[in-house]
Amino acid sequence: MRNAPAIDAATLSTLLNELRLPAIKVLWPDFAERADKEGWPAARFLSVIAEHELAERDRRRIERHLAEARLPPGKTLDSFDFDAVPMVSKAQVMAIAAGDSWLAKGANILLFGPPGGGKSHLAAAIGLALIENGWRVLFMRTTELVQKLQVARRELQLESAIAKLDKFDLLILDDLAYVTKDQAETRVLFELISARYERRSIMITANQPFGEWNRVFPDPAMTLAAVDRLVHHATIFEMNVESYRRRSAMEAKRQRGRPASFATMRNTAEIDAARQSEPNEALGDLGQIVALQSASKSICGWGSW
Ligand code: ADP
Ligand code: MG
Repeated sequence: MRNAPAIDAATLSTLLNELRLPAIKVLWPDFAERADKEGWPAARFLSVIAEHELAERDRRRIERHLAEARLPPGKTLDSFDFDAVPMVSKAQVMAIAAGDSWLAKGANILLFGPPGGGKSHLAAAIGLALIENGWRVLFMRTTELVQKLQVARRELQLESAIAKLDKFDLLILDDLAYVTKDQAETRVLFELISARYERRSIMITANQPFGEWNRVFPDPAMTLAAVDRLVHHATIFEMNVESYRRRSAMEAKRQRGRPASFATMRNTAEIDAARQSEPNEALGDLGQIVALQSASKSICGWGSW
């Protein structure tokens, strides 16, 4: 500022306000002084302050995207203990967290497993990493989203409500299997899945495997159609582990000198055997999907994206 005539500084401030370049407005006097002192070419000065404006814009955009995403706080990939879920490959999760190839194709990710196994944590952590990489994400309990879509439907606004969700590259539907057709008109969930198919991604966490989803959707044909669309381009993580909280509590107990009394994680063969024995016949084609999933081992990339 010292080297710039006062009148120029005032005018420039107004111009930069009107051009909506707040970072340049704050930074230019110091950079101008340095450029004058060090004899920078004008083009270098211009590109340096333009880069700062752009970086600041990115930072503000990510801040906005974080605020709209409604992620549960504190769930990061750094704080996720991958050793607790050996069937989940850290390298694969890191590739997913970069986003590029699968989000562009509207592929999906499905996380299955019993309560406490880290499904919501992992989903939220991937969501956070994606936002930091420039993507837009919305995290919602599925029951809450279904309620919202039902209200929209009653007001004849379902289509536009679903279209509004298009701005999110990824919709994380937490606890899908907690939605039941007895409590809600769940056809709206099917409409959402259909509308996003091969265009926009969905990540689902569920305590129940596909075989139980007939309790979610109004009829078996709709369940089959929903599962079919979801798995067509999807990666499935089966997180069949002991509750992390329970394990941690037992671990703490053990460290205090008591013998370990908890069951350790079931191995892959046991998990597969258990899944194979699930009754699938009543589900027709859906049963085949479940059987296929069982055959594909504890964690699988379902198809390729
Ligand atoms: P789920 O959604 O499968 O029921 P959560 O993700 O809610 O399980 O996990 C329960 C609690 O345990 C959360 O506080 C979560 O942060 C923690 N947790 C679960 N798995 C892990 C893990 N592998 N590393 C770190 N924390 C975990
Ligand atoms: Mg959960």
